Amino acid sequence: MNRRQAIQTLALGAAAVPLAHATGLLATTAFAQATPAPPAAATTPAGPFTLPPLPYAFDALEPHLDAETMQIHHDKHHAAYVANLNKAVAGKPELEKQTVEQLLESLDKLPADVATAVRNHGGGHYNHTLLWNSLKRDGAKAPVSDLAAAIDRGWGSFAAFQDKFNAAAMSVFGSGWAWLAWDAKTGLAIVTTPNQDTPLSAGRVPLYGVDVWEHAYYVKFRNRRADYVAEFAKVVDWDFVSNQYRHVMKG
Ligand code: MN
Repeated sequence: MNRRQAIQTLALGAAAVPLAHATGLLATTAFAQATPAPPAAATTPAGPFTLPPLPYAFDALEPHLDAETMQIHHDKHHAAYVANLNKAVAGKPELEKQTVEQLLESLDKLPADVATAVRNHGGGHYNHTLLWNSLKRDGAKAPVSDLAAAIDRGWGSFAAFQDKFNAAAMSVFGSGWAWLAWDAKTGLAIVTTPNQDTPLSAGRVPLYGVDVWEHAYYVKFRNRRADYVAEFAKVVDWDFVSNQYRHVMKG
């Protein structure tokens, strides 16, 4: 079995995992403060946060995003964020009982020694969970209903929005993200964040974002971030993003 076949086999294994695709991540995750993750049992070293399974096979987004990158990105990078977030809250019951969203929305209230770890690893966990759920190879190719109208109002057209969004992704110096986010004061906005900083910590609700860390594209695209950003745009699931917007608008 060569390397490619091994990846395909792993991908088939992943496909057998029940779909965890949330039709409304905001409803089930971001606004889930009423049902925080249960505190870890004293005998469970893993901690309160768990790596959600990728909601599709590693090769589901081929040829746009490659299976090898998806596997490393989810199984290694995202897994490490979860493990390090668990380390950051270990032995702090008042933090262990909070959701990752609650932690990220109140970074300034955290003890200084855990704030940085939560910002980096909690941000990594939240950002990547949103990322996986916002992608689909044959999903809606353009925003629908209220979000379609809002994007037209804000940018003139979806094509004009996409140009601005991709330009924002290209403008990130070093590692970070570009987002479409909802800001209660200014409405929809394209914003960028460095590292694993999340719009949540600035009082904004991210609808979707593109990860422009080199780990997100270097295996397939090498240094060609523009090519990656263009291919990424082809697998954004606009039904999901439009649903995010609907949940935000419902408050
Ligand atoms: Mn990443």
